[in-house]
Amino acid sequence: MRLGSGTFAACCVVIEVLGVALFLRGFFPAPVRSSSRTEHQAEPPAPEPSTGASSNWTKLPPPLFSKVVIMLIDALRDDFVFGSKGVKFMPYTTYLVEKGASHSFVAEAKPPTVTMPRIKALMTGSLPGFIDVVRNLNSPALLEDNVITQAKAAGKRMIFYGDETWVKLFPQHFVEYDGTTSFFVSDYTEVDDNVTRHLDKVLKRGDWDVLILHYLGLDHIGHISGPSSPLIGHKLSEMDNILMKIHTSLLSEERENLSPNLLVLCGDHGMSETGSHGASSMEEVNTPLILISSAFERKPGDIRHPKHVQQTDLAATLAIGLGLPIPENSVGSLLFPSIEGRPVREQLRFLHLNAVQLSKLLQENVPSYKKEPGFEQFKMAERLHGNWIRLYLEESTSEVLFNLGTKVRRQYLDALRTLSLSLSRQVAQYDIYSMLVGTVMVLEVLTLLLLSIPQALSSKAELEVPLWSPVFSLLFYLMFLVLSALHVIVCTSAESSCYFCGLSWLMAGGVMVLISALLCAVVSALAKMFASGKLLSKNPAHPNSRWSELDVVILLGTMGHVLSLGASSFIEEEHQTWYFLVNTLCLALCHEIYRNCFLGNDCEPRRCSHGERGFVNTAPALQDRSIGHDELEPHRVSKSPTSLNTLRGWEKWMAMASPWVILTCCRLLRSLNQTGVQWAHRPDLGHWLTSSDHKAELSVLAALSLIMIFALVQRRCSLTSKVAMALGLLGVYCYRAAIGNVLFPWQRDSKDISKETPTT
Ligand SMILES: [Zn+2]
Ligand SMILES: [Zn+2]
Repeated sequence: MRLGSGTFAACCVVIEVLGVALFLRGFFPAPVRSSSRTEHQAEPPAPEPSTGASSNWTKLPPPLFSKVVIMLIDALRDDFVFGSKGVKFMPYTTYLVEKGASHSFVAEAKPPTVTMPRIKALMTGSLPGFIDVVRNLNSPALLEDNVITQAKAAGKRMIFYGDETWVKLFPQHFVEYDGTTSFFVSDYTEVDDNVTRHLDKVLKRGDWDVLILHYLGLDHIGHISGPSSPLIGHKLSEMDNILMKIHTSLLSEERENLSPNLLVLCGDHGMSETGSHGASSMEEVNTPLILISSAFERKPGDIRHPKHVQQTDLAATLAIGLGLPIPENSVGSLLFPSIEGRPVREQLRFLHLNAVQLSKLLQENVPSYKKEPGFEQFKMAERLHGNWIRLYLEESTSEVLFNLGTKVRRQYLDALRTLSLSLSRQVAQYDIYSMLVGTVMVLEVLTLLLLSIPQALSSKAELEVPLWSPVFSLLFYLMFLVLSALHVIVCTSAESSCYFCGLSWLMAGGVMVLISALLCAVVSALAKMFASGKLLSKNPAHPNSRWSELDVVILLGTMGHVLSLGASSFIEEEHQTWYFLVNTLCLALCHEIYRNCFLGNDCEPRRCSHGERGFVNTAPALQDRSIGHDELEPHRVSKSPTSLNTLRGWEKWMAMASPWVILTCCRLLRSLNQTGVQWAHRPDLGHWLTSSDHKAELSVLAALSLIMIFALVQRRCSLTSKVAMALGLLGVYCYRAAIGNVLFPWQRDSKDISKETPTT
C-alpha cells in the first residue's frame, strides 16, 4: 500500500498514542475506591455485633476530644524531632515526647512525597496515585470522602491557616481561613508569620472545634539550602515555641471545660539530603506523628525509636477522635494507643467500626476477597466480639470478660493490620499485562518508523507500507491466534483486575489484529532491507565504511551512559560516569590527532558512516548531514579532506594542545562539584564560590567567562548578531546580579544578606 509520508506519520502517531495510553493505564493503577455511594449520604454505622442478646448501641460513639489542633510542618523529617536536632532545637517537644502525655510514631508517607497528595492521604486515608503529582499545582476541590467533609457535615467549626493548597482542596469547609501561597520558595519567614499572627486571637476564642495550621517555612529552607543548613535549627526552635504556646493554651482551656483536647504534630513528607522531596528515600518518607492529649497516660518508654505506622492511619484516628464515620476510602488502621485509655467496650466498638470499613473496601476492590487472610481474621474477631457482648450484657465475672476482651482486641488488631496491608498492596500493583500490550504496540510502531525513515525522506516523500500482503499471510493468522489464546489464558487466570481484560472482546480483538499486522509489516520491511543490503554489499562501488576508534568510543559511551541510568543510584551520581566518559573521549581524540599528525594521513578521507549503507537514494540528504557534522564537531576536522598535514604550523600546535586544555578544564570543572548529590552538604569549590563571602570572586569569574564566550563566538557572526549576543550576555550578568548572585562593579559587597541562593 502506497502512503504519503504525512499520512504514514499521522497513522504512526495515532497508534503510538493508543499504545502509550494503554501503558500508562497499566502503570498508574486505579486507586482503591469505594463504589457503594457516590454522594456522601449518611449511612447508618455498623451496629455492635452480638450473638443472642441484641445490643442497643447502634449510634456512632461520641467524640473523644472536644477540640483538635493539627499542626502540620511541611517537610518535617523524623530526625528533626526524634534525633539530635530535636533534642537541641525542640526542647519542649522532646519533653512532651519523653515524659508528657503523648503518643509518638514515625509515619511513613507513600511516594509521591509531594504536599498535595500527602494532605489528601492524611485527610482521606486513601493512597493517591502518581497522577496526583501532575495535578499538584492546580489542585481541584477534593470530592472524595474525607475527615474535613465529615466534620463539616457534623457541624464542626473549622479554622485553617497556612498553605493555600488546603483552601483549594476544601473551598467551603472552613469558617475562617488565611491561605499562603507556597510559590515563593526563597521566603521562609513571611509564610510562617502569616500563620502565627492569627494564633493569639484564635486560641483565646472558644468558637471552634478544629484548628489546622500548615507551616511552610521549613520546606522552603530545605529547598534553598538543604537539611544541614543552620537556618533549620532556628526554624525548629520557632516551631517548638509555637507548639508550646498552643499546648499551654489547650491545657488551660481543658481546666475550664473538663474535656480533653487533642494536639497533633505531624509533617506531610520529609526532605532528602539535598533538601528536595518527591521520591521514596527514607529521609523523604519518614515523618514524625505525635498525638498529645491529657486523655493519654504518661508513660516513659522506648521513645527515641517510635513505632512505624502509615501516614494514612491518621484519618481513621482523627475520625474516631472527633466522633465521625471513618472516610470510606481510607486504607489506614486506627492508631490503637489513642483509644487505649477507654473502657473495653468502647475500644472494641472503635476497632469493629474500622474493621467493617476496611473489609467493605476490600470486598469492593478485590474479587477474591473471601480468600484474603485479613477478611477471615475480621470475621473471626466479629464472632468473638459478639460472644463478648453477650457475656458483657449478662454481666459475667470480670476476669472471664477481661480475658476474652483482650483476645478479641488482639484479633481485631491483627485483622486491621492485614486488611490495611493488602489494601495498600492493591494500589502498588502494576497492571503488567496492559503495560506489556502497550509497550509492544509502541515498539512495533517505532521499529516500523525507523525502518521507513530513508524511504520517507527520499524525494518522492512517499513510501510503500507492506501491510496488505502480510495481512493475508500465514504469519498474521498464526500471530492472531497465539495472541488471542494468550489473552484468554491471562484474563481467566488473573486474580487482580486488569484494565485490558476489562475491555470488550471486540476492542481487545481489534488491538490483537493491530499488533499482528504491525508485526508482519515490520518483518516484511526488515526482509526487504536485508535483501537490498545484500545486493549493495556485492556492489564494489560502495565505499568501504569502517568504524574508527572514536566512533566506537562515542557509541559505546553513549550506550553505557544510557544503560547506567537504569540504576537508580546512578541517576543521582550520574556525573561520575559523565566525567569518566568525557576524559576517555578526550584521550581518544588526542590519540586520533597525534596519529594523523605523526604517522601522516594514512587513512582515506571517509564519509560519515552513520548507517547509510543500504540506501543509495538518500545520499544527498546524508551528505548534507555530514557537512553539518564537520561544522558542529571540531574533532571531525581531522577527518575532513584538509587533514592536519595541510594545516599551518601554529594551527597544528593548537590542534595538538587542545585535548590537554580540555582535559585540564574538565578537571577544574570537576572540582566545582565533586561531592555530587549524596554528599552535597560537604564543602566544595562550588560552595566556596556561591557563599556570600566570595561574591566578588564569583563576579569576576562570571564576567570573564561571559567575555570569553563573546570573544570566541563573535568571529563568525554578522554585526547584528554580534550586538544581539553582547546584549544577551549582558542580560545574563544583569539577571544574576539582580537576584543577588553576583555584584555590579559599582556595588559594594553587603555582608548582611544572610540568604544563600544556589546558582543554577
Ligand atoms: Zn510539603
Ligand atoms: Zn517542598
